[in-house]
Amino acid sequence: MTVLDILTYPDTRLKQIADDVDVFDAELVTFIQDLEETMAAGPGGVGIAATQVGVMRRIVIVDVSNYPRLKNAKHHGHLVLINPEIIDWQGMKKGREGCMSVPDFTGNVIRAENIVLNALDASGVKREYEMEGFEARAVQHEIDHLDGLLFLDRLVSRRNDLFKRKNN
Ligand SMILES: [Zn+2]
Repeated sequence: MTVLDILTYPDTRLKQIADDVDVFDAELVTFIQDLEETMAAGPGGVGIAATQVGVMRRIVIVDVSNYPRLKNAKHHGHLVLINPEIIDWQGMKKGREGCMSVPDFTGNVIRAENIVLNALDASGVKREYEMEGFEARAVQHEIDHLDGLLFLDRLVSRRNDLFKRKNN
């Protein structure tokens, strides 16, 4: 397995829109393994999108199970989501987000609190998920990457909602 290089803002490749995956082959499996390895090598990463390593395909990985604030929350654990689509959502809430592609900042972003999601798994089987809270937020953040958006693009106020990380 390989740890891939993470693109960082303002790399213009982060603004590209990723294409649907339609071939489920050994190459895809290898790429997903590399993406896993890359996410695991990052600082406290709960998710990663293929766009962040310069591969413009609609693949994200989300795993909030090790996130300390989630001890009692419902979540799905480790997820590989291919061609993910949010088909319903409810409620809006402000929350703090970070991103491996924006290493020096965090920001407050408004996201839906509950979502219903359709996605294919790594073998191309269609699945539906209901998600809430931080897991729903993480998935919305990663799907944004597939559409060329960063959390920076969703700040209501750059002045009040953008924060420099202290230990950099
Ligand atoms: Zn991100």
